[in-house]
Amino acid sequence: MPRVPLEITRRDLLKSGLAAGAAGLVGTNGLRGAPAMAAGPDEDAWYRQGEIRTTYNVCDMCPWHCGVVVHSVDGVVHKIDGNPHDPKSRGMLCPRGQAGVSFLYDPDRLRAPMVRTGERGEGRFQEVEWDFALDLIAQKLNQIKERSGQESVAIFGHTAGDSWWAEHFAQAWGTPNAAKPSSSLCISPREEASLLTFGTPVGGHEPLDWAELECLTLIGSHIGEDSRNTVMQDFAGLHGRGGTIIVVDPRFSSAATKADHWLPIKPGTDTALLLAWIHVLITEELYDAAYLDRWATGFDQLAEHVRDMTPEWAAEITDLPAEAIRDTARAMAEHAPRAVIMPGRHVTWYGNDTQRMRAVFIVNALLGAYGRHGGMYFNQAPYIQDVPHPPYAVAGSAGGCAAEPGDDDELGELPTGPTGKARADGARETFLQGPTAMQELIDPMITGDPYRIEALICYGVNLLHSVPDPERTKEALRNLELFVAIDVLPQEHIAWADIVLPESTYLERYDELFTMAHRTPYIHLREPAIEPLYDTKPGWWMAKELGERVGLENFFRWDDLEEYLTTRLRSVGSDLDDLRDRRGVIVQEGRPFLEDFEGSSPFATPSGKIELYAQSLANAGLDPLPVYEPVEDPPEGYFRLLYGRHPVHTFAKTQNTPVLSEAFSENELWLNDEVAVELGVADGERVMLENQDGATSGPIKVKATPRIRHDAVFMAHGFGSDAPELTRAHGRGASDTKLQTRYALDPICGGAGLRVNFVRITLEA
Ligand code: SF4
Repeated sequence: MPRVPLEITRRDLLKSGLAAGAAGLVGTNGLRGAPAMAAGPDEDAWYRQGEIRTTYNVCDMCPWHCGVVVHSVDGVVHKIDGNPHDPKSRGMLCPRGQAGVSFLYDPDRLRAPMVRTGERGEGRFQEVEWDFALDLIAQKLNQIKERSGQESVAIFGHTAGDSWWAEHFAQAWGTPNAAKPSSSLCISPREEASLLTFGTPVGGHEPLDWAELECLTLIGSHIGEDSRNTVMQDFAGLHGRGGTIIVVDPRFSSAATKADHWLPIKPGTDTALLLAWIHVLITEELYDAAYLDRWATGFDQLAEHVRDMTPEWAAEITDLPAEAIRDTARAMAEHAPRAVIMPGRHVTWYGNDTQRMRAVFIVNALLGAYGRHGGMYFNQAPYIQDVPHPPYAVAGSAGGCAAEPGDDDELGELPTGPTGKARADGARETFLQGPTAMQELIDPMITGDPYRIEALICYGVNLLHSVPDPERTKEALRNLELFVAIDVLPQEHIAWADIVLPESTYLERYDELFTMAHRTPYIHLREPAIEPLYDTKPGWWMAKELGERVGLENFFRWDDLEEYLTTRLRSVGSDLDDLRDRRGVIVQEGRPFLEDFEGSSPFATPSGKIELYAQSLANAGLDPLPVYEPVEDPPEGYFRLLYGRHPVHTFAKTQNTPVLSEAFSENELWLNDEVAVELGVADGERVMLENQDGATSGPIKVKATPRIRHDAVFMAHGFGSDAPELTRAHGRGASDTKLQTRYALDPICGGAGLRVNFVRITLEA
């Protein structure tokens, strides 16, 4: 029986360096500076208690996926360090990375498979054996398939293990209705825009050549708040060497405090600013003409398109001074091609987001930055073969951070959307042209239009804190024949499940190899540091066991994941022992810059060039060049609801993690200090929020500050849980998702723009 420590205390974590990590990045020697060490040798220290076992893993506390080294003694994990051989972590971790120990030993974890005994939403369950739970799911799935077809089953997935469900299982089973919030609620606009402009997606890791970068522009990217380890290291490096930083944000964010230019833009007007920048670069001949001649098409149409989009035109729209718009365009051009607008993450804002991201990439192209030193390099996925299996029943549609070009190679001819991306229609129509949009699969569960989705398998998605309008989602869950929830923690939606399957954390399981698209493509191992705690199982094991019960055994022709991983690794001359000898990572050579292509084109667009003018959009009846579309202003008495991240938390995943909860337990509402005075609200006072449709959330503590515009409020995402089983997260702060009862659907990528919601402030009852 695996050991479960009764409690990991803050003192233990101080010894392990985690408390130091809560203040910032922690290096490989995480013990440095910890108070316990300063006092001298500690005879009780964990590292004196037995043989230290070292294993290699990939941090799952956020999607940045830093490579880590895990130290355990006698079946107990004590310490996690950054893997110095990993190109992403470079031996450093953020506070959440070190809090993986605290996440593992969270006493609130799900412990055994359960079957619902009460009404949906009541949260009453009975623990059952794994065989019973899996047999029951298989029986229900087969009944639904026979009656209504495979497509009546939807599969949602999030976190690194989601490829087993939202990709492999979904495609083998034959449903196109697989979706990931990482795509439809986060990065799908930038991935589609990059495909349209450059012919390849951005990939999980924005490919900035930070070492030689001279000028960085951030539009709504909150480096330091969105604390992606290596990005913070690189941003600090750029700032430290005096690089030029331009920040466009309605809020004086942490990154804005380091900026040379802060543009406090009116929310929703970013495309107008981008078009004016394009106007300045072209009319003042600040663009890289030789680069565009060689590598781009559509320049003349672009120049004509922006002819009248002057800084004065944009100033009226954006609330920014025309001179500031002109100066920042010139600042970028002064450093070109070592100047980049960062693609960013979570770019689903207003529903016209693919067009806005096209404008971002067009600016980068005018600066000659793509494929150039100091600009953006070409990401490449590492070479490695898959484990053979029969052809999938449908193509992948879930999208997400890990999607790489070439995934659909084996599928042959399939219908294509306006971006040329292969789609699987099955017997009926899919809903959208781009990657399947998770939020668009909720309505068919309620209305049956265009057909009823009868079952949902939800892997690692915190459903009621991800999909907009949670009350609508609850209505959908009530209508389902079968709702299976797979998770580590008893998140809010678990109470609505028919069957709950508890997953082992990333520290207790093998998983699919991490094949990272990067300047130096690399492969990283995830292996267990300890046996699974309680009666939990890895997600891959559940997918295989269920697959074998529903007739998909040919897609799981391996006994366990060690065999699966070894088969893949053999294709690159390695195996598990060899990978451990290499400290868990195999690094390959990439072709990051234009000169590495020896005359061939790195741009996989139909023209083989950067497409400033997107003919494929024109062919689909969509704007081939970005167009500014005004968005609705807040009604009288309301503020635009902006949301983002806090550095010690990830989405709605870590609020219950003991040591992170201790560091930051509830979110705050940023409210302009002058507006606070007008409303009679004091700094620190708790208020309730009500949106334009009457949805409420709170109470939430007000942070009255001059660092935000008068017309918007801001809060960190992921708080305000209603799950009593989450003893630390329950009832702490307010939920932004509850206040997002509207979204604007992007017609190109299917992303859900969530910044179209407004809130008013009421005093706490
Ligand atoms: S940035 Fe932090 S939480 Fe994210 S993977 Fe890296 S260490 Fe983990």
